[in-house]
Amino acid sequence: MKHHLISAAAAVTVFPDTTVPDVVDMVKCKIAELEAEGSDDAFFICDVGDIIKKDIKWREMLPRVSPFYAVKCNTDETVIKTLVTLGLGFDCASKGEIAQVMKHGVSPSRIIYANPCKQKSFVKYAAKHGVDLMTFDNEAELIKIKDVYPEARLVLRILPTTQVQVRCQLGNKFGCHPDNALKLLMKAQELNLNVMGISFHVGSGVEEAKAFSCAVHQARDVWDLALDMGFNMTLLDVGGGFPGQKSAPITFEEIAIVLNDALDYYFPKSSGVEIIAEPGRYYVASAFTLTCNIIAKRTVARDKSEDDAFIVGSPDGHNKQNLSLNDEPSHMYYLNDGVYGSFNSLMYDHAKVEPCVFNDSLYSFTSSVWGPTCDGLDCIMQECRLPEMEVGQWMYFLEMGAYTLCAGSTFNGIPRPNCLYVCASQLWTMLYPEEVSEKRRCSKPSVDLQEALGTISCCTDQELLLC
Ligand code: PLP
Repeated sequence: MKHHLISAAAAVTVFPDTTVPDVVDMVKCKIAELEAEGSDDAFFICDVGDIIKKDIKWREMLPRVSPFYAVKCNTDETVIKTLVTLGLGFDCASKGEIAQVMKHGVSPSRIIYANPCKQKSFVKYAAKHGVDLMTFDNEAELIKIKDVYPEARLVLRILPTTQVQVRCQLGNKFGCHPDNALKLLMKAQELNLNVMGISFHVGSGVEEAKAFSCAVHQARDVWDLALDMGFNMTLLDVGGGFPGQKSAPITFEEIAIVLNDALDYYFPKSSGVEIIAEPGRYYVASAFTLTCNIIAKRTVARDKSEDDAFIVGSPDGHNKQNLSLNDEPSHMYYLNDGVYGSFNSLMYDHAKVEPCVFNDSLYSFTSSVWGPTCDGLDCIMQECRLPEMEVGQWMYFLEMGAYTLCAGSTFNGIPRPNCLYVCASQLWTMLYPEEVSEKRRCSKPSVDLQEALGTISCCTDQELLLC
């Protein structure tokens, strides 16, 4: 029985090679399949192998730091399942996220409830399920926890005070200033609560490695304060902020070098302190490619204001004569995903995106790219240069895995894109060794891409598919 490539069961297509085919070839191939069916839906391609490679690099570069993936960054079930299988811990921000990871059999000991301002009933839920590790940064939170979960193991989230370039500031909302830590720790002591760790978050998308070394130093100062007060301190949480895309202004490796040095200095191995982190974008940003269809197009004169913009090439050609001699038309493209969908990252994550097209024309035009909803705010790119494209053609966007699908809505009835999952078998073997070795017997040494992507048999998300 033949099934469409993107099945509700989120099957993973595994290629019998060390790497999956180039993502551009896969995008082309999927487009061909959709067009053959008469479909023009937007879609994601997720390279599960990219996530596995990220984990290998993390273990190599930060061997002392256990990653607790920040679920909020991308809640896709296949992502979560992959990370569960890789043995990660999880940073959950709510009851829903705790339930999502526990559904995959994650033990409560592998979860940190890392939201310093929690809904009371959610804390009760955490207590009921034994998720006892949680952060706090204010007095009201301590009183709440005392009331519903006094046995919880508490991690004080401090505010890193060093000014650094960062894409998303978090310090305006969370973190106890180190100067106020003593007062807060005294309150915890008065309530007889179990403070056992310090955490921080340098900001999401940090652009300077020193953010980590400075924060570790500050954590050490507060740690010593807590030790002096008699708390039994055992856990340091260095938060998130690790870059996950090639276009990031700083590399993961640069941060790892600086962070390792700081950890070795302030929390040497001999101290026996457990160190965890809450990476989000690092694991998922580069694994996802989004492809959208151009559903509509409008051509306007570039030097006209919006009020007197006119359409070039209206059916009777009448408007054409309005173009000034040295004017160049500007094209407005409307895609079937936008700011209310996967491109919400433009607003919430301050992301920058770059459209890629299958058109190697030497001529490019001033263009703007818009989402599909009726809101003028739904603009993906105010201005860029693109070759002239037509309705029905496609644009794709690389590195779209972080803070995209998870916060997208279906405003205006626009559906969220489906996702096609792929993986190189050599990497898949690391996740499911027995499955692969058994199925490999029937795999071919090389695979035709169209055949691989177009002929998926009926499968569940547990099953491995080789062509
Ligand atoms: N931990 C907490 C508490 C966060 O708020 C966030 C992001 O907002 C993260 C971890 C993940 O950050 P990043 O995706 O930059 O690694």
